[in-house]
Amino acid sequence: MDIKSLLLDELKVEIGKLNEKPYRAKQLYEWMHVKLARDYDEMTNLPRSLREKLAENYEYTSLKEVTVQTSKIDRTKKFLFALSDGNFVESVWMQYHHGNSVCISSQVGCRMGCRFCASTLDGLERNLMPSEMLDQIYAISRSTGERVSNVVVMGTGEPLDNYGNLLKFIHMVTDENGLNISQRNITVSTCGIVENMKRLADEKLQITLALSLHGSTQAKRRELMPVANKYDLNEVIDACRYYFDRTGRRVTFEYSLVGGVNDTDEDAENLCGLLNGLNCHVNLIPVNPIKERDYVESERRDVLNFQKKLEKGHITATIRREMGRDIDGACGQLRRRHAKHTGP
Ligand code: SF4
Repeated sequence: MDIKSLLLDELKVEIGKLNEKPYRAKQLYEWMHVKLARDYDEMTNLPRSLREKLAENYEYTSLKEVTVQTSKIDRTKKFLFALSDGNFVESVWMQYHHGNSVCISSQVGCRMGCRFCASTLDGLERNLMPSEMLDQIYAISRSTGERVSNVVVMGTGEPLDNYGNLLKFIHMVTDENGLNISQRNITVSTCGIVENMKRLADEKLQITLALSLHGSTQAKRRELMPVANKYDLNEVIDACRYYFDRTGRRVTFEYSLVGGVNDTDEDAENLCGLLNGLNCHVNLIPVNPIKERDYVESERRDVLNFQKKLEKGHITATIRREMGRDIDGACGQLRRRHAKHTGP
């Protein structure tokens, strides 16, 4: 059993099974989720006999840092971690004036097939456990020596394709007995799995939902995102409205601008029509070119023009500041490159 994926109440049950006093569960939980211990041996106020019993019965996940690249421009760090089964995940640490933010992966690979994304080129390998999502934050906290205040689940993987583990992760990372990060400082990004967007809305959490939109019509979206073959754009937008109605949280739309593909005046006008009357915010992202696909970044002037058009249509839009531009391959490339070098 993966001990770091257990909620405090679940841990109390397990500690009971080992005939230990209930307060030991709280101590153990604190070692794992506040003091960020790397293994049972670091838990010095637990009796050796208990540590041995734990090691015999429960797996203790801990990521191994494989590489870390630091940007010379803004000190963004990109981490590659090895998981216990030999897979790799990427995470990014960014510093903003409002605090430190970590972007984590939710799966090894991804099966969604978005055309502009390197993470999906080899398909989905497996889901990450709650502990493996938490561990990305813990390992970065230990490595940088700084507190993480914001978490974005926007790295490799479709979080809503790993729904149960994601939900547990959110409960644990926001738990007052753990890192106690505010729900309002958590963002989950989805390519638009409608039924799970609604499920998430019904949880009535205070997290931000970000929808990867990338196309302003059903046809355009289908070109870039195979998931659009399953869910019609209107259905996806309705799910966003539902999210706002249930939670009162403004939805963010992520729109990667691909040169000549979705960055024209007509695209901006369609987008204004689509989002009309919705309480939302649009993040414009100049797409990272990936060598396996022939998509290119939009020209700077086209990006600015696109933003202007949206603002004229009364849609708030910001251009995402690119962090770590000098170290960044597109998301997913570091893992692929490393797996290729070390794989069979
Ligand atoms: S953009 Fe996200 S959902 Fe789409 S393939 Fe990449 S990781 Fe998966």
